Amino acid sequence: MKTNFPASFSNRLQVQMGAEASTLLDALSTTSPTSIRINPNKFHTPVKLEKVPWSSHGYYLEERPSFTLDPLMHAGAYYVQEASSMFLEEVVKQTVDLTQPLRVLDLCAAPGGKSTLLASLLNKESMLVSNEVIKSRAEILAENLTKWGAPNVVVSNNDPRDFDRLEGFFDLIVVDAPCSGEGLFRKDPNAINEWSPDNAHLCSDRQRRILMDVWPALKPGGVLIYSTCTYNPAENEGNIQWLSEQTQLEALPLEVDPVLQIKEVEAANNIVGYQFMPHLVKGEGFFVCAVRKLDGEEWQAPRKDKFPLTPTGKKEQAEVSPWLTDERDFFQHYENILALPVGGNAAWGAVIRELRIVQAGVLVAEIKKKNLVPAPALALSTIFRKDTFPTWELELRQALQYLRKEEWPIDREKDGWHLICYEQLPLGWVKRIATRFNNYYPLHWRIRMELPGELPGTGLL
Ligand code: SAM
Repeated sequence: MKTNFPASFSNRLQVQMGAEASTLLDALSTTSPTSIRINPNKFHTPVKLEKVPWSSHGYYLEERPSFTLDPLMHAGAYYVQEASSMFLEEVVKQTVDLTQPLRVLDLCAAPGGKSTLLASLLNKESMLVSNEVIKSRAEILAENLTKWGAPNVVVSNNDPRDFDRLEGFFDLIVVDAPCSGEGLFRKDPNAINEWSPDNAHLCSDRQRRILMDVWPALKPGGVLIYSTCTYNPAENEGNIQWLSEQTQLEALPLEVDPVLQIKEVEAANNIVGYQFMPHLVKGEGFFVCAVRKLDGEEWQAPRKDKFPLTPTGKKEQAEVSPWLTDERDFFQHYENILALPVGGNAAWGAVIRELRIVQAGVLVAEIKKKNLVPAPALALSTIFRKDTFPTWELELRQALQYLRKEEWPIDREKDGWHLICYEQLPLGWVKRIATRFNNYYPLHWRIRMELPGELPGTGLL
């Protein structure tokens, strides 16, 4: 069935694209493809699936399964991500030296599609600050990043203008800006109802504000990657051209295989953006453009600053350090023990001091009445040493019951902490006490959906 689009949207596309506009509008009336991106640190490559051509770990599924009913998703084995936006990988690889230790900011990060991708690309010495301005969305972002398990991530809840406290700090800033969402019309019909020319105009103004607010936090020579999910030039290349008129930057064109049919869009000052169009690619509407900052001063670590967190006591440290595969420094924040990269270096200190932190590094355990309670984030972390706890492998239905915070018969002999796994991937903790066990899956993460009599699969196993 053909979708009805606002006349002013169709008319603008007509002016923008000529005859091609009707082909795009036809494509927007079809079903959108379903795609996932595998977590290479947790899961194997599903060889039988069709690959997303511009992504190392992206795959299309033939139909959309119930992801909620797949424990693998809750274990962080993959992230459900629209295929076009996986192109961020290629943009980063072509514009940034990933062998260097990098400080990276994902400014508009919730729910975490780009951040989980960035976390998989960065090396062990790098740091990702994943920020979201809306508090409730920052919590969802933290949940998704915890499940992804990358250890060098900070989740913050700040307004873009707060980043002026970290002037010249970041090597790479990704701004995946809130936009008029034209590229999501097919996936989310609500986006059509919310669209209006006035709203698109407001979006463009807001994007300019966001860009100007965060620009000082980029170091000289640093790269800014700007993306949206709209076709509106005033929110895309128009904004980057505007930025080039306000600041000192150079455009960073990419090498893109013409076979992929990604459209190049140009603006003044040599700006080249890359536009994904659903009538040409198997994915939604997505725009991305990269530029390099040419001026400004690089952040210097303040000489005398004290690290803002207190090291954990020796006893606790001796208990938790064997739980991790990598050497880490441990800090205490109220009753929580956090694992941060060794050296507690000044950059981590600055981020923790200057931003409103939701979480930082790996939350390893909570100290409760002098005992250590292993944290859900420990079980899900990619630096967790699984063999340090007894494991309890569950089959599909039981694993879903665990994720619903239900109970099932006790068949462990020993009291104490057990790591719950599905297909060998950790999901979380239970504690057996005599004839019962307590389910320690976080209440706010639990699956609320009733389990059907027959459980469908995702075809990934
Ligand atoms: N990067 C995310 C991903 O890949 O999953 C999607 C980000 S979404 C396109 C834009 C985000 O910007 C939303 O989470 C929204 O809450 C946030 N946002 C809204 N207004 C903002 C503002 N004024 N400044 C910064 N971020 C804002």
